[in-house]
Amino acid sequence: MALIVQKYGGTSVGTIERIHRVADRVAQTQRDGHQVVVVLSAMSGETDRLIKLAHEATPTPDEREMDMLLSTGERVTIALLAMALRGRGINARSFTGRQGGIITDSAHTKARIARVTADRIREALAQGVIPVVAGFQGINEQSDVTTLGRGGSDLSAVALAAALKADRCIIFTDVDGVYTADPNIVPAAKRIDKIAYEEMLEMASLGAKVLQARSVEFAAKFNVPVEVNSSFKEGKGTLVTKEDADMEAVAVAGVTGDRNQAKITIVGVPDKPGIAARIFGPVAQANINVDMIIQNMSQAALTDLSFTVPRADLKQAIPIIQAVAKDIEAKSVSVTEAIAKVSLIGVGMRSHSGVAAKTFEVLSREGINIMMISTSEIKISCVIDEKYLELAMRALHAAFGLDQAQPAASQSGS
Ligand code: ADP
Ligand code: ASP
Ligand code: MG
Repeated sequence: MALIVQKYGGTSVGTIERIHRVADRVAQTQRDGHQVVVVLSAMSGETDRLIKLAHEATPTPDEREMDMLLSTGERVTIALLAMALRGRGINARSFTGRQGGIITDSAHTKARIARVTADRIREALAQGVIPVVAGFQGINEQSDVTTLGRGGSDLSAVALAAALKADRCIIFTDVDGVYTADPNIVPAAKRIDKIAYEEMLEMASLGAKVLQARSVEFAAKFNVPVEVNSSFKEGKGTLVTKEDADMEAVAVAGVTGDRNQAKITIVGVPDKPGIAARIFGPVAQANINVDMIIQNMSQAALTDLSFTVPRADLKQAIPIIQAVAKDIEAKSVSVTEAIAKVSLIGVGMRSHSGVAAKTFEVLSREGINIMMISTSEIKISCVIDEKYLELAMRALHAAFGLDQAQPAASQSGS
């Protein structure tokens, strides 16, 4: 008998029919002799709908209230699945993040898990009850509801699997695994059988939303093997696990695209020591992550400084940067939202050279201008005009030999 954590994403629980299909699969897992803990997302589109409502209530909703609101989506699906299971004569019980013992810090809307007690989950398992746990949510030390960032149900599942020392953690979604690129954008993408935590973490951080980046970080830290598979069909998925020699053999494992960044440029910045600290200090204090930074050569002791921030934080970042620009006597501030980041990822880049040069060559051949570049040991990213993102992804995917002969068919039919 194995203990299996199964997480079902929004599309997989998007309708009552689909919730019944999830109930069938959970029931089958139990009949196969396993213990199951189920973690669910809200119905697809629900979290977006709630965020939209919040912005209709006020342009800058309070983050504590936002979490109170967003946590409702997952309460709906856990209750419905528990009902569907009980309707089949299976003893199941739903648990909120609080009841599941998911304790986080107080960074509302992007809380980090501090610990997982999971007492009631263990108790339920001991009684032969299937726990159905709300993903994406926890509570802080003051018992206020928190959420774990978009896609956070993946993290809930991995954290529960680690706390319960589960044998397996399966992320069921609308694709049958992790592909060499988003198969909805690059039809020639191939399913990857096995991917290293480090590669998956980069892919997730750089736009492959199939797994939430933090969930991969957590899985690597606690050595939880994670399987990504389809909730719509049976078959092989992708195992996210420790790096091995096979993974080093290819230079590029995957290509990602990210439209979630925006570019801010401060024009005419006095080029003297201490300026960067004065600019980025207040941004960091506001909990805004700056990603890429480029500083131009200075002319007449003035320089231009460009950097990217998450689009979701742009509204908050603009007044901070405008105040800083005034303070340091810079000329002006300009903002561009229509940018995107295309990235190539692979642990094999450590031992293969020439990936950067080839990337630039491919983009130039397609007439795509590169605005910013950043590299690490296992990735290269270029910021480009958003309208060329799909073209760039497909061209790079083909150029690095990742295309398969037969394009992947759509999986979910949704
Ligand atoms: P869920 O609602 O189940 O959490 P998500 O929408 O968060 O599902 O993640 C699944 C989606 O991730 C897929 O439909 C696919 O479009 C997208 N995706 C992006 N990059 C990749 C990739 N490299 N491999 C597989 N899917 C990817
Ligand atoms: N419902 C949340 C979201 O849409 C969490 C998740 O689906 O993982 O981001
Ligand atoms: Mg997801």
